[in-house]
Amino acid sequence: MRAVVTGGAGFLGSHLCEQLVARGADVVALDNFCTGSAANVEHLHSTGRFDLIEQDLTTGAPVDGPVDLVLHFASPASPVDYLRLPIETLQVGSLGTQHALDLARVKGSRFVLASTSEVYGDPQVHPQREDYWGHVNPVGPRGVYDEAKRFAEALTLAYRHTHGVDTAIVRIFNTFGPRMRPNDGRAIPNFIRQSLAGEPVTVAGDGLQTRSICYVDDLVQGILAMAAAHHPGPINIGNPHEISMIDLAHWIVKLAESGSPVTHIERPVDDPTVRRPDATLAHEVLGWEPQVQIEDALLRTIDWFRTNELRTPVLSPA
Ligand code: NAD
Ligand code: UDP
Repeated sequence: MRAVVTGGAGFLGSHLCEQLVARGADVVALDNFCTGSAANVEHLHSTGRFDLIEQDLTTGAPVDGPVDLVLHFASPASPVDYLRLPIETLQVGSLGTQHALDLARVKGSRFVLASTSEVYGDPQVHPQREDYWGHVNPVGPRGVYDEAKRFAEALTLAYRHTHGVDTAIVRIFNTFGPRMRPNDGRAIPNFIRQSLAGEPVTVAGDGLQTRSICYVDDLVQGILAMAAAHHPGPINIGNPHEISMIDLAHWIVKLAESGSPVTHIERPVDDPTVRRPDATLAHEVLGWEPQVQIEDALLRTIDWFRTNELRTPVLSPA
């Protein structure tokens, strides 16, 4: 089994590479390091079954030899990152996805697209089932990410129907764990970094908006179950554990044994008010359910940040 992971040096990509290698696969990661870091996968080189290639997906996805599986995870994912890299985000979602699909077409591989709960936008249906079409503002700031992923889903289906590629779409809900950049701007790394530094923990608006948070190890099991299945998706993969940002901030401060105060910052434009996956399909089709308790997952992540905070990668300029 030989897999290609685009975005393999990023947060989720690095965990996927690690788990694939652990399961005996040969893995090639393609990454341009715009939000990821070679340090995330450095430990895999000694296995002799891992290659990291510096490659901008928007210009192509050249890989020699057979490929059984393409996991297409390349894309900025944190709102702070995709607002900093708006055109790059649209390009990797469109051109990058096409190059990744062409790789799967030429090699006859199973293809898994990392889509997102953001395709539901600021949802008017709660929880979100896969048959909900979403509520997205195409001309708002988040449109660069949401529409890139919606386009990527449509392109994936077009390759399935036109070229017979064995495609799958997973809609990933907020996931956290070790190897998130402490400064990537997402709520959990922000809250943990701020708590550990004793700085004010920044809650956007009144903090009553919710997210449903999943530990990375659970997410990886769900993605690899989808890779091994024949279902086209889309399938939601996420932990239905829903929490408000104000409660999450206080919880992290407590678990980190921090004295940080909670402070309020401006709420981003078009910030979704609620988000929770209906994970019925993942359970029925993949037999998948999250296993890790969120408190345990937060403690593991806080521990990782305590020992690794200084290895924040340097990012390429926008
Ligand atoms: P991340 O920023 O840590 O990783 C993304 C990786 O893609 C980085 O290594 C980056 O350098 C690489 N990349 C970006 N543009 C590229 C390009 N043009 N060419 C090559 N490589 C490129 O983000 P993440 O959280 O690991 O997210 C990975 C994927 O999962 C993304 O597609 C994201 O949309 C999706 N996703 C993540 C979450 C989550 O909660 N983490 C939720 C929904 C969807
Ligand atoms: N958020 C926050 N403080 C921060 C960063 C984010 O309160 O320092 C909020 C953000 O406005 C959103 C929620 O936390 O309501 C989740 O944001 P994140 O960037 O983690 O993910 P996404 O918006 O993509 O779900």
